[in-house]
Amino acid sequence: MTTRAIDQLGRALTDLRVSVTDRCNFRCTYCMPRERFGPDHAFLERHELLSFEEIATVVRVLTGFGLRKVRLPGGEPLVRRDLPRLVGLIAALDGIDDLALTTNGSLLPRHADALAEAGLDRVSVSLDSVDERVFAAMADTSVPLRAVLDGIEAALAAGLTPVKANAVIRRGVNDDGIVDLARYGRERGVVVRFIEFMDVGRTNGWRLDEVVPAEELLARLDEAFPLEPVDGGPEGQVAERYRYRDGGGEVGVITSVSQPFCGTCTRARLSAIGELFTCLFAVGGTDLRAALRDGGTDGDLAAIVRGVWEARTDRYSELRSGATRDLPRVEMSYIGG
Ligand code: SAM
Ligand code: SF4
Ligand code: SF4
Repeated sequence: MTTRAIDQLGRALTDLRVSVTDRCNFRCTYCMPRERFGPDHAFLERHELLSFEEIATVVRVLTGFGLRKVRLPGGEPLVRRDLPRLVGLIAALDGIDDLALTTNGSLLPRHADALAEAGLDRVSVSLDSVDERVFAAMADTSVPLRAVLDGIEAALAAGLTPVKANAVIRRGVNDDGIVDLARYGRERGVVVRFIEFMDVGRTNGWRLDEVVPAEELLARLDEAFPLEPVDGGPEGQVAERYRYRDGGGEVGVITSVSQPFCGTCTRARLSAIGELFTCLFAVGGTDLRAALRDGGTDGDLAAIVRGVWEARTDRYSELRSGATRDLPRVEMSYIGG
């Protein structure tokens, strides 16, 4: 039976992001800067991570609240061994009608088919530039751009569609490549989504003047490829959608800084070690792993989640200010995008 959980601002819990690992084979400067995530960084130990069965249990319990969408980010989710097995466990649950993966794409050539066979619906691939040099500087990895583009092709071929390409735009770093990215998306049938650089975590040296507001992005895109808005879309959607007037497909902007969308934020996040977070900018989460490992029942787990969600008041992006900027925050690579 479904009994929805509604928070203090009237938002239902319908969407869960599960970070399956805090490790990654890239060191994107805006997410896991190498100076902070170097050889000495203490990543989580394997025994600390929720098992696939434990994750599936949490997802199953949350379907009792009306959860419909599950997304698997990380770290890089495909560095976790045997990920298709987790996809299979979640895809088999009643009520989940949208199961997606957020990945840097580099390992998709190897895994796309197995993921699709296991029941994954679609993928979002991070792609900040189609210029090899800019890509390498931003992702700070020896993995070539070609591997990511091949990953996108593998996802398209496996039917993990619509494939979305997420580009974090930083002024002076990659904003001169937005039209090339849009052109690439049009040519390959990929929905490019331009993301405003966010002040997640405390390590990425975020500055407001590096944010290119969506309005400016759209104006620059519209000049190259005229656009018109796409109305509607499902509840809780984060991107503003536009279509090319010439029928060349769709593009999106994620306006988390310039036009926050906390009012429709129906997302919970589960860290790799089983903490439930109610906001991307949260300071801490609520441990579910103890209940999972100490013999808690589904009812016990549901009661914890309901208590947390019903008390939820988060709307960080709407409040973003000098006062909130200095608070401690969890890192993006830990909580998953
Ligand atoms: N490794 C996977 C990937 O890169 O897609 C999944 C995890 S990554 C943390 C999820 C998403 O968060 C990516 O699309 C990434 O670009 C985005 N991201 C990371 N740091 C960000 C920031 N400071 N501002 C905006 N988006 C960010
Ligand atoms: Fe890794 Fe994704 Fe973060 Fe880049 S954005 S460092 S690929 S987790
Ligand atoms: Fe949701 Fe928090 Fe982001 Fe607002 S700031 S949209 S509440 S995750």
